[in-house]
Amino acid sequence: MYEIKIAEPVLSSNIIPKLKRILHSGNLAQGKWVEKIEKNLAEYLNASFCVAVSSGTAALHAALSILNIGPGDEVITTPFTFISTASAILMVGAKPVFVDIEYDSFLIDPTQIEGKISKRTKAIIAVDLFGQMADYQKISSFAKKNGIFVIEDACQALGSRQKRKPIGSLADIATLSFYATKPLTAGEGGAIITNSKKFAKKAKSFRNIGRNLKNPELFNILGFNYRMTEFQAVILLSQLPKFEENLVQRRKNANFLTSNLSKIPGIETPTVENENQHTFSQYTIKVKKPYPLNHNQLKKKFDKAKIETKIYYPLPLHLQPLFANLGYQKGDFPNAEQTANQTLSLPIHPLVSKKDLNRIVKIIKVGSTIAST
Ligand SMILES: *Cc1c(COP(=O)(O)O)cnc(C)c1O
Repeated sequence: MYEIKIAEPVLSSNIIPKLKRILHSGNLAQGKWVEKIEKNLAEYLNASFCVAVSSGTAALHAALSILNIGPGDEVITTPFTFISTASAILMVGAKPVFVDIEYDSFLIDPTQIEGKISKRTKAIIAVDLFGQMADYQKISSFAKKNGIFVIEDACQALGSRQKRKPIGSLADIATLSFYATKPLTAGEGGAIITNSKKFAKKAKSFRNIGRNLKNPELFNILGFNYRMTEFQAVILLSQLPKFEENLVQRRKNANFLTSNLSKIPGIETPTVENENQHTFSQYTIKVKKPYPLNHNQLKKKFDKAKIETKIYYPLPLHLQPLFANLGYQKGDFPNAEQTANQTLSLPIHPLVSKKDLNRIVKIIKVGSTIAST
């Protein structure tokens, strides 16, 4: 058991009676509480529509389906992300086309996108990795010029802003995840955010096995059971009022680590790009020479101290067996490959105390004095 965990939900004390009421109400599946979280999230994000689903993966699958992307189509995305970003492209029968990341920001390199656009390209999925938005100004300009859609995988970025604009506002569709390691969580869950009424309507049918919204006996499209339960919705609702406050605490914790770690040779602290507001869903450092330990060895030091850290992501997607038939090779995306050998995510969630942060700093400082072998 870890003494300091990488993620921990900040729950309100009145959640248990609310869950009990749902349990005894006879209506446990998608109902009025799901409607309420959709309304509140749309308001929070200044978006026209939010459609709740069962996971971030389901949200990505829904987004691609709603945009009619399928066999023969290509979708440009990054190889340095969670598997779902790209496996969702396979779910609709389309082909992922990878573009390398920028080494400093972990985000898709916009300057390399245009060269990968072909006649078959239907969409770009940019990922707001670790909680900061990709460069949507540049991404949308290529997209508009070429008549392709922009999907924002904001599964790690609820609360993030770019030039004061929230996630979803610069893309056709944005996706959210409420998985256990995300700052707003119900254990599992997801949502799509859009300003298009047409896309929102189709999403509502898609997540409800393709049911016609007006006549529930009719099924017009191939859909899936991607509904959210009332329990998940009420757990999310209970966290929403303090969500911004918790993000402020995350940023404070992140800044504390950055000011204490950035001068250690070989430790690279995360950058915040111009005019971006970072949520630090993950606080991810790079561990490289001349630091005497690699990221795996440093992780072992943390394990010994009962502090949970994670390597996001140890293998870039173009080298995953799932995508082997796309024909990519080692060396194709040097920034993603180098990054995968260096990252370590440290706990900074709002329940991490100053004392905890000092323990984290100390382990990295002690590690830096170990004689290199
Ligand atoms: C978590 C995550 C997902 C998938 O969300 P699930 O709810 O776990 O299905 C997709 N993309 C990114 C970038 C994520 O971090």
